[in-house]
Amino acid sequence: MTEADDLRQHYRIVVVGGGPVGSLTALELARSGIDVLVLEAAPHTTDVPKAGTIHARSIQLLTRRGHFAAPDVDAGAASTTFHYAGVWGLEITAPPGEGPAIAGIGQSDLERLFTARLIGLGTPVLKAAMVTGVDQDDGGATVTFTHEGRTRRVTADWVVGADGARSIVRRSVGFPATETAPTAAALLGLAVLDDPATAPRGWVRTERGWTVLNVNHGGFSRIITFDLDGPHEDHRRPLTAEELQETVDRFAVRPVPFRNARSLSRFSDYSRLVDDYRFGRVLLVGDAAHVHFPLGGQGLNLGIGDAVGLSWRLALVARGQADPSVLDAYSRERHACAAGVIANVADQRERMRIGVDGDRLRHELDVLLEDRDRNRALGSVISAQSQPAPSTLQDAARGDFAANTVLETDTGVTDLIRLHVAAGNRGLLLGGDASESVRALVEPCWGERVRVIRARNLGPTTVLVRPDGEVAWSGEPGDGSELVARLAETFGGSATRARLTSAGTR
Ligand SMILES: Cc1cc2nc3c(=O)[nH]c(=O)nc-3n(C[C@H](O)[C@H](O)[C@H](O)COP(=O)(O)OP(=O)(O)OC[C@H]3O[C@@H](n4cnc5c(N)ncnc54)[C@H](O)[C@@H]3O)c2cc1C
Repeated sequence: MTEADDLRQHYRIVVVGGGPVGSLTALELARSGIDVLVLEAAPHTTDVPKAGTIHARSIQLLTRRGHFAAPDVDAGAASTTFHYAGVWGLEITAPPGEGPAIAGIGQSDLERLFTARLIGLGTPVLKAAMVTGVDQDDGGATVTFTHEGRTRRVTADWVVGADGARSIVRRSVGFPATETAPTAAALLGLAVLDDPATAPRGWVRTERGWTVLNVNHGGFSRIITFDLDGPHEDHRRPLTAEELQETVDRFAVRPVPFRNARSLSRFSDYSRLVDDYRFGRVLLVGDAAHVHFPLGGQGLNLGIGDAVGLSWRLALVARGQADPSVLDAYSRERHACAAGVIANVADQRERMRIGVDGDRLRHELDVLLEDRDRNRALGSVISAQSQPAPSTLQDAARGDFAANTVLETDTGVTDLIRLHVAAGNRGLLLGGDASESVRALVEPCWGERVRVIRARNLGPTTVLVRPDGEVAWSGEPGDGSELVARLAETFGGSATRARLTSAGTR
């Protein structure tokens, strides 16, 4: 475990907040050989009754980054039933060879996994370190924190704020954000149900409100209530077991007795999205950048996408291999994803309202879910697979997510996910017939950033895949100028015009 006295004065990158998103961001940076320090306010990881649904796109990202086991490329598509606005029947499908459509993993378990790997790499993670402010100038940033009663400071080239919804990094730096006011009030807690067999399980709506019970026989059940009639009178007032019990009984229209309530909190449909994820030398990931009503289990999934989308780019910048302007694409892409989630969550909330309007919208939803294509399209939205959409390598266009596929390389038959795992934080340039000319063109400048691999079954097509699985370029290389321009834009470096001379590339 890291001790404060072991810390140096300066780090390449300081990550503030070692929750699930901060620990993943730091781990990805550390695996790229970047010197990172994590400052985390809590003394240790505790189980929180929050994220437990890991959606298909997050699974696909975490397998490509080597944190989850690579699936069998020959396995068929996986499908599962989920809910939208509390209505079951949404079909979520993961493409063939991509693993499950949903994984039930608690966010604290993910945090423990990432933190253990980080510590295994020798990265300092200082616990009980409460960051109180971040200052920056052109040359770097200073992070002030308290630890064991002492105020300390470290400096960094870059700071990543992963410190959750109340982010001191965001407030201290003054990131502009767009907010919507709360219109709904939700309560959350863990408790032991007196009679789990008869308790209303899952998402249940009555004429008074919603209860959501993840019933656990013999252990603690997660209990949530949704009141869509108005916001909390005072959202800072601590929730008591009595208030939770009274609300559950009222919404369930019958007594649902429980005991030993703990982890009690209030939340709402208040939303906030920073306008830009970067402010000078400070970047945001996870709830520090975006918060919204937790409908559809999307918040942590957004954060996983942020961590993976930022870390390979920030590693390039921190190593001096790319200009900081490559980080603009991080902000643009992740802002669009979060804006999409905030919009679908608002839509779900309207469909959950009690009364005539909610009934009408729920009826519309029932009709939509009956239509297989529209149902699947909505399932892709909730599982973040439409941002960008999965596509086979041969058909991929820029901006698609390259679905896993079998690849016949010079060292044997493998698949895209396994190549990603082996490439670490480097991109993949998969060349079919043109691979040798492409290699000669690309390796002198981008060899440390991109792995060039011949994949015979791609034929004339060459595909450039980013470490986060997205296609940066695809096509027949021609004179190579378009490919080189895209390499420079994506991975930094010189876009000096180069030409492929081999006849095989034409
Ligand atoms: C009821 C509920 C259910 C949910 N279910 C899901 C779900 O199923 N799927 C899903 O994807 N999302 C879900 N979410 C959302 C999910 O919990 C969050 O999106 C997720 O916790 C965000 O992770 P994070 O690492 O960005 O922030 P956090 O988990 O908040 O972690 C931030 C970390 O920063 C630390 N920190 C804070 N301030 C400081 C400071 N000043 N100095 C140093 N460290 C600091 C904190 O101690 C913490 O460890 C749910 C949320 C709720 C409320």
